[in-house]
Order: sequence, then C-alpha cells, then structure tokens
Amino acid sequence: MSHRIVIVGGGAGGLELATRLGRTLGKRGQARVTLVDANLTHIWKPLLHEVAAGSLNSSEDELNYVAQAKWNHFEFQLGRMAGLNRAERRISLAATLDERGEVLVPERELGYDSLVLAVGSSTNDFGTTGAAEHCLFLDTREQAERFHRQLLSHYLRAHANQDGSTGQISVAIVGAGATGVELAAELHHAAHELAAYGLDRIRPENMRITLIEAGPRVLPALPERIGKPVHQTLEKLGVTVLTNAAVSQVTHDALLTAQGDSISASLKVWAAGIRAPSFLKELDGLESNRINQLQVRPTLQTTRDDNIFAFGDCAACPQPGGDGRNVPPRAQAAHQQASLLAKSLKLRIAGQALPEYRYRDYGSLISLSSFSAIGNLMGNLTGSVMLEGWLARVFYISLYRMHQMALYGPLRTLLLMLSDRIGRSTEPRLKLH
Ligand SMILES: Cc1cc2nc3c(=O)[nH]c(=O)nc-3n(C[C@H](O)[C@H](O)[C@H](O)COP(=O)(O)OP(=O)(O)OC[C@H]3O[C@@H](n4cnc5c(N)ncnc54)[C@H](O)[C@@H]3O)c2cc1C
Repeated sequence: MSHRIVIVGGGAGGLELATRLGRTLGKRGQARVTLVDANLTHIWKPLLHEVAAGSLNSSEDELNYVAQAKWNHFEFQLGRMAGLNRAERRISLAATLDERGEVLVPERELGYDSLVLAVGSSTNDFGTTGAAEHCLFLDTREQAERFHRQLLSHYLRAHANQDGSTGQISVAIVGAGATGVELAAELHHAAHELAAYGLDRIRPENMRITLIEAGPRVLPALPERIGKPVHQTLEKLGVTVLTNAAVSQVTHDALLTAQGDSISASLKVWAAGIRAPSFLKELDGLESNRINQLQVRPTLQTTRDDNIFAFGDCAACPQPGGDGRNVPPRAQAAHQQASLLAKSLKLRIAGQALPEYRYRDYGSLISLSSFSAIGNLMGNLTGSVMLEGWLARVFYISLYRMHQMALYGPLRTLLLMLSDRIGRSTEPRLKLH
C-alpha cells in the first residue's frame, strides 16, 4: 500500500501543500494524498477585509476543493477534524450537517502514515466581556460577508429614509495590526464608492472609523518606520487612531477601555490577536502552548510524534537564535513552510533526513486600499528597502498572485488576472448586495 499522507486544513498553507504533493507523489502513485477541510471552498484569508468592505466579491476568488483535488491528483474529504488516535494513526472527523441540521457527511475515521496539521487560527478576544456577543470577527468568509451585509444595511436604511436627513455610521476596529489597519483603509474607500453609486444619504465624512490599539503604536509587529507613515496616512483619511487604549468591555453600542473611555460604535470589529483551534489543546498528548498552537521542531514535526507535522498559524515553530520568538502567523510563513514540507515528505518516504525550516522575512506590505500601500522588502543583497505608493501596491497584489501560481500554475494565473481586469471594467467596483 502506498504511503498515506493526510493534510488537515486547506488554507494558505495546507492547500498549497496538497496541490504540490498531488502533482508529484500523487500523480506518480508514490503516495496517497488526502486533504481534509471543514468547508467545500477556499478563500485566501488575507482577502477577507476586502470581502468585508465589499471591494471583493468572494464568490469570484474562491476555489472549490473537489475540483482542485481532481485536477491535481489528490483526494478531498469534507469534514472537521475532532480527534486523534496516535497509537493507531487515525484521525476522527465530526459529521458535517446541512443548513437544516441533517447529516450531510457522517462522522468517520481516516488512517495516515504522515499527518500534517494546518488548521490555522482565529481571532483571540482574550475573553473580553461582551466581545464574542457584540463584535464581528474576520476569520471566515461567512463572517466577512456578514460584516458587509450589516454595513450595506446601514446605507440602505438611510437611503430609504423619506425625510431627506443624512445618516451616520460609526465603525470601531479593535487591534491596529495589519488586519485592522487594512480594514480601516478599505472602509474609507467603501464609503466613497457607496456615495458615488448614489447611496449618499451617509456622506463619506459621516462614516466615523476608530482604530483602537492597546500598544503604543499602530502595526506593533512591524518596524516603526512602517508604522509611522501608515499612522499618518490613516489620519489623513480621517480615521481616528487611539493608541495605548486597551478595550476591557464591549456593550451593545460601545467599547469601554481600561483607561475609562467609551467609544460608541454601531459596527464593532475585533481584529486583535490569534489563537489556534481549541481541539489542538491536549490532542492525544501532543505538546501545545497557551494559545493552543502545536509545538514543533525545526523539521516541522511535532515535539512528541515524528509522524505528525504542523505548520502555519496552528504551529509554534521556534525561530533560530534561541530568544524564544516563534515564526509569525503570516501567509508568507505558511507558504514557505508548505514549500519545505513538499520536499520533506518526499524525503521521508525515501527514508532520508528531513531539512530544517528557517523563516525568511521577505518584508511586509500593508495595503491602504486602492490609495496606496506601504512596507519594506528584504533582499539578500539590498537589505531592507522601503516601498510606498503604487509600486508597493503592485508588490502587495503579487503576494496573492504567488498563492494563485502555487495552486493553478502560471497559465491559469495569467488567465485569472485577465478575467479580473475584464470583471473590473464590467461590474460595480463595490459589491452592492
Ligand atoms: C483579515 C486577515 C488579513 C490578513 N492579511 C495578511 C497579510 O496581508 N499578509 C500575511 O502574510 N498574512 C495575513 N493574514 C494572516 C494569514 O491569513 C494567515 O497567516 C494564513 O492564512 C495562515 O495560513 P494557514 O494555512 O496556517 O491557515 P488558514 O489559511 O487559516 O487555513 C486553515 C484552514 O483549516 C481549516 N480548518 C480549521 N479547523 C479545521 C478542522 N478542525 N478540520 C478541518 N479543517 C479545519 C479551515 O477551514 C481553513 O481552510 C491575514 C489574516 C486575516 C484574518
């Protein structure tokens, strides 16, 4: 029987890995590659703030796992992983229910020789009172679409108002990391587009956007020379940026900070911090950390089981240097680790030693919607180069194109780029439903 590789999680990392392994080991019959995901379709997570603002129609950029599996010589299994039996090398999948609550796919077990966990992460509200109840999150396509529907409802209600009065909308975003910053800029853009389409009872200046950060500056994980111009640009766009403001409670219509301030908001988004899925905590004795990430070695094998790998946001992978820093939870890291694992799994089947992963930071680019992007690129020869404006935007978009290249190859990526261009000239620039 050929080697059974089971990859759980078809996100930024897992889907690239399944595709690469399918095209090589799967196609040649050297391994049976299976991808498991809780959903039928994939959308690249860094696009979700654009889905929320309506500048991206998620159905146009989603990928269907069944078709991708067929085209790339791997199997797809729909299901949410719920348990693990390491001794018998089996994982268990919970039953998948349809919208009426009836069983669509029953619960079942899958055997493996090599198991790769790439189940990602979700936003961490740190148990803040009222956050889960009153905030929206941007972890899934459904959540991003929910935000968009709520945003649009405000506009449609104001538009239907017969008394001719102008409306207001206030959005508060908790967390001035990349997601919060990009969402704020994208919403500013959406406010102008909605007004341009005639939904102008809420004028662009009447969309009040507040970005709230517990730390002393925006983009705390990035160098200050990126954070500073981003902060200035946001303020120029009219976004209120509050730093050193830790949200301690969320109510129906406001966010309260530990410093005693109250920020009223009709739409509240929590975009701070991450945690891995809770089922990873104490998963048949595997080692995990306080945010449920599985502890891995530089080979990306879990510390207590050589047959189980973990990568992407759900893994705590130490960076060399011993200062306790882990590889950051970013699409760039998931992409690099998927490339490494595509090689590692071939070597494992051949009984050879596995290479070690070293995170290479190629820089960070922050999109400020269609206005601009700001960031730095890192090169071996050039060191760190600051980029701003349209050139930075081109590099920002190229991150997504690289993901598409890994999934579809160069020809189909080119065709997708062309169809995006055509789509942009024939459809509204903002999703209006
Ligand atoms: C709004 C937003 C913007 C971002 N912008 C950027 C950016 O600009 N640049 C950047 O580098 N990073 C960005 N990130 C972070 C980036 O998206 C993640 O680091 C990256 O997606 C991690 O990839 P992954 O493969 O580990 O997990 P994911 O891409 O999250 O994929 C996880 C997959 O696992 C599946 N899954 C989860 N649990 C189970 C289960 N129990 N059983 C089966 N399947 C399961 C999910 O359905 C999903 O398909 C952003 C994140 C967000 C939310």
